[in-house]
Amino acid sequence: MYKLIDSHSHIDEIGNTDSVIAEARKNGIMAVIGVGTSFMSNQRIMALAEQYPRYIYPALGLFPWNIADDDFQDNINYIKENIQRAIGMGEIGLDYSKGVKEGASKETQKSVLRELLEIAKDNHKPALIHSRYSWKDCFNITKELNITKAVFHWYTGPLSILEKIVESGYYISASPSAEYHKEHRQALLATPIDRIILETDSPVTYRRGTESEYNSTPADVVRTLNAVSELKGMDRETVAKITFENTCKLFGQGFD
Ligand SMILES: [Zn+2]
Repeated sequence: MYKLIDSHSHIDEIGNTDSVIAEARKNGIMAVIGVGTSFMSNQRIMALAEQYPRYIYPALGLFPWNIADDDFQDNINYIKENIQRAIGMGEIGLDYSKGVKEGASKETQKSVLRELLEIAKDNHKPALIHSRYSWKDCFNITKELNITKAVFHWYTGPLSILEKIVESGYYISASPSAEYHKEHRQALLATPIDRIILETDSPVTYRRGTESEYNSTPADVVRTLNAVSELKGMDRETVAKITFENTCKLFGQGFD
């Protein structure tokens, strides 16, 4: 068993938090970074962080889906007021899949991302960035705003942009899909281990052999560890140690 951190979990969407955390602890998970996506979910994440101090660490965010929400401005205000109590800013970013663009155009998404990144920068918080089909714009905006601490979560984009992400000192995070997802595996292979952190994006469902799909939990960060170790041809102990240290560096604090 190795010391691990789940750097990206929608733990407010999982339920049964006591047993989910007990299971995570049993598997060596030392901390879970709970990411918010909306006004409601940010409040739930903050409440969970209070309930499980020094285990669930809150990040406050606004997912591109939720730009169309009626309480969108309330959420921005909530983030501004509470970001100092959070460990990071996320989940934020751009999503150019059709359904998301119908709710918020590319231009709207970009202006919201800029506003949120400025708040992160002013408060010295790392940004947890969702960049689906929008890798280039996400990178360019992050770079233009001189953001120094960022993770491109579950990166599956082109290697040409990945190269710039790494050169800029940013991180990417690995999810359990590192077991089978072609683009994600290519990205992880191309990224030096000192720029990778581990996550689950739980409760996202992942394939596992012939087993039926199930909702993931933070304990599944062990799957991420195993997949990254196998992919990189490195032993699990080394990958666990380095990715743990990377997470501490990104968030500017220890987790044990
Ligand atoms: Zn997520």
